[in-house]
Amino acid sequence: MKGSSSLYSITMVNEQQIIVIGGGAGGMIAAWRAAALGAKVMLLEKNTHLGIKILISGGGKCNITNGADIQTMIRQFQMNESRFLKYAFHTFTNIALLDLLHAEGVETYVQENGKVFPKSHDAEDVLNALRRMMERVNVSVRLQSPVKEIFVDSDGLFSVKIGRDTITASTVIVATGGSSYQKTGTTGDGYRWMKKLGHTIVPLRPALTPIIVSPAPPSLWQGTPIRDCNLMAISDKKIVSEWRGDVLITHFGLSGPATLEVSRNAYLEFERGKMIDICVDFYPELTFEQLDEKLIAEIASAPARTVLTLTEQLVPQKLAEYILISAKIGFIKKLNQISKNERRALTTILKRFSLGTVKEIPLDRGEVTAGGIALNEVDPTTMESRIVKGLFLCGEILDIAGPVGGYNLQAAFSTGYVAGENAANSFNELNSHITAQ
Ligand SMILES: Cc1cc2nc3c(=O)[nH]c(=O)nc-3n(C[C@H](O)[C@H](O)[C@H](O)COP(=O)(O)OP(=O)(O)OC[C@H]3O[C@@H](n4cnc5c(N)ncnc54)[C@H](O)[C@@H]3O)c2cc1C
Repeated sequence: MKGSSSLYSITMVNEQQIIVIGGGAGGMIAAWRAAALGAKVMLLEKNTHLGIKILISGGGKCNITNGADIQTMIRQFQMNESRFLKYAFHTFTNIALLDLLHAEGVETYVQENGKVFPKSHDAEDVLNALRRMMERVNVSVRLQSPVKEIFVDSDGLFSVKIGRDTITASTVIVATGGSSYQKTGTTGDGYRWMKKLGHTIVPLRPALTPIIVSPAPPSLWQGTPIRDCNLMAISDKKIVSEWRGDVLITHFGLSGPATLEVSRNAYLEFERGKMIDICVDFYPELTFEQLDEKLIAEIASAPARTVLTLTEQLVPQKLAEYILISAKIGFIKKLNQISKNERRALTTILKRFSLGTVKEIPLDRGEVTAGGIALNEVDPTTMESRIVKGLFLCGEILDIAGPVGGYNLQAAFSTGYVAGENAANSFNELNSHITAQ
């Protein structure tokens, strides 16, 4: 038992501190909150820098959070994730996060789509604010400290192994993140330790990931954006995933917000061995009949134009010829020469144009990792493991993956705050027992 009355145990616990493993968004806020509540905190980070993912987030501009109300934010996550996050999101809201950053001099603004960024457009400002907050409450940060293993002894004390050193602690917060962008340090170490300690790891899957398609897009298309379309992943003639937004055609396939959002559910079908066709609807706001009416009006307004000229106005120019090939209409045909069947074939293609079939959705290129520590094994009001007492978890290591829009950083911050607060409470309680003895 922690805090047992044997002289040896008391000495050990008195020397203890909270160890936070992982210096990302979740780990840093957890360390700050715990130390602000009076706990002695050491933060271990394997990299030479803290917060590398913060620095690359939002293309280096850091989409810190979203300006939506909390209920709306929570609803962005899958049902079981929303239920789990409810307490943390209400405890440490987007407003509370922004208040902290503003107090540190980081001015922010909200885009029309709700995304919140620092006014400076510099993620480093967010990271520096977190650094200063930790410094002020005396968090001891140890960089270049890759944790190899965590053990728990029969008294419930943790041994955290870093190279040849072993640090003991009564309380540990694991915030090692997901398993994508492994070059940034997130190599999934925490999952391995948690599995050994008895936790269930929900299988790791890519989310918010570019999609590699076959055949690779023609080189002419590369770099072409498709704005405000509906991107669909189709398997066995059914739409298994869709998202309205922008798509970017790249040399390997597809990227851009709509692609990232489609990737998670498309992968679920892909891993079942299904062939997934990735299609785009260029006019999601119009039904087939409305789009056909639009074409009729266009044809009537300038019947002597070629069908290619019209198609170049309807879709990104570089795609126009391919669309006409798919619709089996000659490029130079005059609009007043195309048959009703040809016009309707063009309408059909504009509503569902194939950009290729899924070849790969690589886990490592995901902005987040879906899967992770099973949520039913963590208390959502404290972030303490229900399996190992004194062990707290926060951030992307949990089975949580939100959409693009600042939701993932907010999830890391909110769960980190709750983990830090409750780790401090359990640490302080333990210390007060010892002092009282
Ligand atoms: C390219 C990209 C862009 C993104 N943009 C956004 C965005 O704009 N907005 C948004 O909300 N989300 C964004 N995300 C997602 C967001 O960055 C993450 O969900 C969030 O950073 C997760 O925070 P975390 O603290 O859980 O993990 P991380 O930030 O990944 O931190 C984990 C830390 O643990 C350390 N660590 C791992 N193993 C060990 C070990 N064995 N010993 C010691 N330390 C270890 C790692 O080095 C790392 O520093 C983006 C992600 C990527 C990859």
